[in-house]
Parts: sequence; structure tokens; C-alpha cells
Amino acid sequence: CGIIGVLGSHEAAPLMVEALKRLEYRGYDSAGIATVHQGRLDRRRAVGKLVNLSDLLVHEPLAGKAGIGHTRWATHGAPSVTNAHPHRAGGVAVVHNGIIENFRELREELSAAGAQFQTETDTETIVLLAERHMAEGMSPAEAAEATIRRLTGAFALCFLFDGEDDLLICARQGSPLAIGHGEGEMFVGSDAIALAPLTDRITYLEEGDWAVITRKGAEIFDAAGRRANRAVTQIQIGA
Ligand code: GLU
Repeated sequence: CGIIGVLGSHEAAPLMVEALKRLEYRGYDSAGIATVHQGRLDRRRAVGKLVNLSDLLVHEPLAGKAGIGHTRWATHGAPSVTNAHPHRAGGVAVVHNGIIENFRELREELSAAGAQFQTETDTETIVLLAERHMAEGMSPAEAAEATIRRLTGAFALCFLFDGEDDLLICARQGSPLAIGHGEGEMFVGSDAIALAPLTDRITYLEEGDWAVITRKGAEIFDAAGRRANRAVTQIQIGA
């Protein structure tokens, strides 16, 4: 399973499919991508091998230079298109690797407040929480931070927002996640191998970190919400 995020200067879909291929070695049962194009968030998902997603994209292309992508190894809910990531609620989309351990409690709370669940995943609680916070008037970054604070368990995740083609918010707790620095482009990936064709300048997030990323760079915060300085390392890896 794996995660990719792109704020690029070229079409994101082909880059994301290629990056997900580089993460195939981790295993997966389904895959999906979302982009923001002309301000509009949209997604494509497919069960099985990545070629199924690529085939779908031939018939139903997904334009846009900002996006998130995912290969899923189902833990909660069967492998199906509905349960495949990115998950979406209103203007918020997310990809997630790992397990949200308190998802039952969050699901009950959200359902009691009127939220409609479309999937059987633990992940959907993340987008529904973020979407609720945005409906309360929070900015994407505020909503993401408030959401991440509610989650227990292991996760690497990356948010994409409708109307925002220069914003990714990612977080790690118990699952690795790396930020890649390009020239006027920024990337997020499960590991440096995923990012190797895109950049060799990598920042590894530390446990509990989360980051607000635009094409200008990444602002990283630690678990306590303080600005954190994380080194950019030049890695050597065969593309
Ligand atoms: N727990 C999530 C799900 O079942 C994410 C699984 C993964 O790590 O790919 O959808």
C-alpha cells in the first residue's frame, strides 16, 4: 500500500500512476487518484492491478496538476471501488494508509450528528470529520489539524481540497511519509523510492508531524502544533 501527493507543473495523473507503480512492491488490492482541475475536485478508483486504474483513466481522463493517489490494502471493508481511496466528503478528499483505531467511536459520533457514511472503511471518518470542521468555518489547515488530533492508531495520510490547486496537507503517525522538494513543485510519498523520478531532495516527517504544503514549500508542525525544522536530505537512489 502507498501514498503519493503532487503539486506539479505538469499533469499529475500520469506521475501519480507511475509513483504508485513504484510502490507496488508493498502489495495492494485497489487503487485510486484524485485531482483538482479548474478548481474542481474529482477522482477515479479501480479494484485490482494498477493497469485497471490506467485503463479507466484512458476512458475517463482526470486532468489537473494537483493530486493525491493511493494503493489500498484493505483492513476495514472489502476491496471494492466504493471502499477504495481517495475518500471524499463534500470538498475534502483523503488518502490513508494504516488503521484508525478509534473509528467506531468517531463513526458513532458523526452518525449521531447526521453524517452519511458511504463506505465500510475506518478512513471515511477522517474526511467526514474534516468536512464537518470546514462547515463550521475552519480553514483547510485548521480543519486538518483538528481532525488529526482526534485520530488514534497508525496512519500516513494526505488531504486534497476542492477549490485548492496549490495545497496538500499530510500527516504521519506510525507509518512513514516523505516530502519531496522540486523546482516550483512539491511532492508527498510513502517513501523516497516513490518520489525518485520526481526529486532526490527529501524531508522525512517525524512521528506525529503534519505539514501544510504549497508549491513554495512545506510548513511542518510537530505533534504539539509547534513549527518544526526538518532537514532536507539529498538522497541517492536509482530511478
Ligand atoms: N484502513 C484503510 C482501509 O482499509 C487503509 C488501508 C491501507 O493501509 O491501505 O481502507
